[in-house]
Amino acid sequence: MGRIEGLEVVRSRIHGYGMIARRRFAKGELVCYGDGVLWRDDEEFDDTYALILEDEHKQPLFWDLADQTRWLNHSCDPNSVVDAKFIPARETVEAAWTALRDIEIGEEVTYDYAFAASVAEPCYCGAAACRGVIVDPGEIDQLPDDLRRRLTIKRAG
Ligand SMILES: [Zn+2]
Repeated sequence: MGRIEGLEVVRSRIHGYGMIARRRFAKGELVCYGDGVLWRDDEEFDDTYALILEDEHKQPLFWDLADQTRWLNHSCDPNSVVDAKFIPARETVEAAWTALRDIEIGEEVTYDYAFAASVAEPCYCGAAACRGVIVDPGEIDQLPDDLRRRLTIKRAG
């Protein structure tokens, strides 16, 4: 698997490893594609670095990121967004990250993981708009009490 052009894996100020820009990305520009391996709900696999999406029958699919994109950290105020779609005919997923704003050299590239409430985690992204929990804003009402106490926002919106 080739190294992703324009990005570099470093120790992150947010968490563990992260990916920083080695060149400038303009708002709307493709940052990278994410290569991975497809897993289904009933299989044994490690979902730590997997994008979660649905197949054409609304069944959950896991795209286990198998390249450097697995080190992209979450931010509640992200500078990129991932678009992941299942391609049934090829039993594969196409995942692409696009810049939400201009990304400067040295800036960490992040996106919003928007976890379901059932797999939400405390967030330490450091953004002024940090929700306190890595969770889909639409699932805040379903958070368990221990995570709900960490919330810095009341609900979606
Ligand atoms: Zn946060």
